[in-house]
Parts: sequence; structure tokens; C-alpha cells
Amino acid sequence: MAIPNKIFDCIIIGGGQAGLSVAYFLKRSKLNYLILDAEGNSGGSWLHTWDSLKLFSPSQYSSLSGWQMPESKNEYPCRQEFIDYLKAYEKRYNFSIQRNTKVTKVKNKDGIFKIETNQGNFAETVVSATGTAKNPFIPSFPKRKDYQGVQLHSVDYRNTKKFKGKKILVIGGGNSGAQILAELSKVAQTKWVTLEEPTFLPEEIDGRYLFQQANSSYFNEKKQTEEKEVSLSDIVQVEIVKNGLKRNIYDALRPFDSFYKDGVIWQDGEKETFDAVIWCTGFNANLKHLNPLGIIKNGHIETKNTRSIKYPKLWLVGYGNWTGFASATIYGVGKTARNTAKEIKAHFDV
Ligand code: FAD
Repeated sequence: MAIPNKIFDCIIIGGGQAGLSVAYFLKRSKLNYLILDAEGNSGGSWLHTWDSLKLFSPSQYSSLSGWQMPESKNEYPCRQEFIDYLKAYEKRYNFSIQRNTKVTKVKNKDGIFKIETNQGNFAETVVSATGTAKNPFIPSFPKRKDYQGVQLHSVDYRNTKKFKGKKILVIGGGNSGAQILAELSKVAQTKWVTLEEPTFLPEEIDGRYLFQQANSSYFNEKKQTEEKEVSLSDIVQVEIVKNGLKRNIYDALRPFDSFYKDGVIWQDGEKETFDAVIWCTGFNANLKHLNPLGIIKNGHIETKNTRSIKYPKLWLVGYGNWTGFASATIYGVGKTARNTAKEIKAHFDV
């Protein structure tokens, strides 16, 4: 049911893990908040990831503030387990949330935000937590438009069904590329292109370790210098990746020169045909709805922590390191959400 027009203390745009995390900390105040989410169901962009996706950290490191994810039967939880957890988390805390509501524009009207949706709402403060999944990134490659085969970003990849017996080029050297390549290589002929030699983390290093490192960085603890520096984009050896390593499928090639109509032209001039190219090349922040505020530069907004410098009644949560170290991860978002809620409460003096 549509909630009638009124001025909310705070509107949170986006009902994924980042939006829910802010709501969790705001709920403890008397502030009148509402989450607006474009999806019809709980789960944020996890609803649209590929079927076999496994998280790169065990359940206790894949949990949001306040309530731990139930133990998974797998070492690494699968996407459906995480979606079920988000749904249960929402129910447990009874967040105020309006679904099927896409925010198209946020405007500043005499110091109050006017939020244009199919409903129309107003708010004193706004938290934008719209993630990155709606803004997939594909790097520019010469003659990409000439290529007549299938091109798909990982955000639109579901499973191997359409690709059986085909010849596929997977582009991108992170966790998505490694996991998707591994399952495709069982049913199709595959090649892998990465900008540089990909880094596979040792078997014992997974999300747990990465998050511990994220924690130390966040609090600027010196002790992390003793630890090996690893990156959140390095490849975690979830089961399918371990199996791929055993099968020797990860022979990564450096980028080709250009596309042509049937495939790619390698740097030595040789042409190779491919039925499909799958771009596992990541995402940028989805900030389109904030365009009317005129504060987006190179895909980012100038912030102090999560707070917009130009509009101090606007916060940005969950988009990546520029909104707090590891804030685009399940474990990492809680810290920035807590701080954001604290600043919002201070604004209202509650
Ligand atoms: P989202 O989940 O994208 O939620 C944003 C919500 O906002 C969505 O519901 C969307 O529909 C809604 N929305 C967007 N625009 C609007 C609008 N204009 N109006 C209203 N609503 C809007 N992190 C980990 O910690 N562990 C992992 O194992 C892990 N695996 C990952 C695997 C993949 C393939 C990817 C892509 C990411 C992974 N991440 C992982 C990173 C991160 O946890 C996820 O990207 C996560 O979904 C980010 O949550 P979010 O709430 O910021 O964004």
C-alpha cells in the first residue's frame, strides 16, 4: 500500500544490506524514517546474481549488525541462503520499507529533499544506499560494437544453460570472473582475459581474513603491517574455484587489440572466433537519481566519511572505499552505517 505524501525525517533509498544496516541503527531513535526499494522482494541485488554464486566468507563473517546469519550447511553460504537471511533480518527488525518504488530524482527544494518516485515523498535527510549492481561497468575496447556474438555482463549471467558446447571468452580477473569461468569451463570451451596476472588467495585465506584486515585499516591500527597485504578483489578459493585450479582452467591471457565481427584480434594479429563474451568487469556506483543535485564528479560525490560536503543532509552508504573502507561488503557496511545513523541522530539532536 502506498504511504501518503508527508515529510519524513529520513528517507533511505535502497533496501539492500546497506540500506537495512542504516535502518538498523536509526530504528533505535524516534526518527520517522522510510526505506524506498525498487525491488518487489527482500534481497537487494543478490536477487539478480548467478544461480551458483557462493559468498567468499563463512556465515559469521557474512552477517549484518545485531544478528548473526544462521550457520550454513556449506563452508561458504550460497546466494539463496543470504537472500533468506536478509528477508529474515528485515522481518526480525520490522523495518519501515516500501517496495516496488524506484526513486528517479532527488531534488533540493528550499532545504528539503523532494524525492520523485511513483509515489512522491519529501524528506529532511536522505541516505542513498542504491548499490552498484544497476550500473555495471564494461571497459571500452576498440570495435566492440562490430562484434556480432552474444555480450553479457556478469550481472545478467544466470547459469551455463545457454552456453553448452559454445566457445566463450570471459573477461575480468576477480571473484566473478573466476567463479563464472569455472562453471562454464565444464560445459563449454573457454578462454580468460585479465588485465594482469590474477591473484588467487591461499586456501586458508578467505573473507574472514580480508575483513579482519578491513577492520584494522578502518581503525588505523598499526598491527596490520605485520600481516600480508591482500585485496578484497583477490580471488577466494571457494569450492568451484579450487576445483577449477585442479583442472588447470585458469590460464589468463592479456587483453586483445580489438574486436571484429566474429570474435577478437589478439595482439599478434591473430583472429579468434567466440560465440559469447562475458564481461566480469565490475560496477560503478549507481547515483543517477542524484543527478539533479549536480554533485557527481567522475562517478563519485565529495564526502566526509559518508556525508556529502555540499549537502550535509545527504549521506552515501555502501558504495565502496570512498564511502568507508570495505563498505561495499556485508561485514564492512555495518561500521559506516552505524556512524551515518549517529550523524543523522545528531542532526535532529536525538
Ligand atoms: P544492493 O544489494 O545493490 O542493494 C541496493 C538496493 O537499492 C537494491 O534493492 C536496488 O533495487 C535498490 N535501488 C537501486 N536504485 C534504486 C532507486 N533509484 N530507487 C530505489 N531503490 C533503488 N560482499 C561480501 O561481503 N561477501 C561476498 O561474498 C560478496 N560477494 C559478491 C558477489 C558478487 C557477484 C557481487 C557483485 C558482489 C559481492 N559482494 C560481496 C559485495 C556486496 O556485498 C554486494 O554487492 C551487495 O549487494 C551490496 O549491497 P548494497 O545494499 O550496497 O547494494
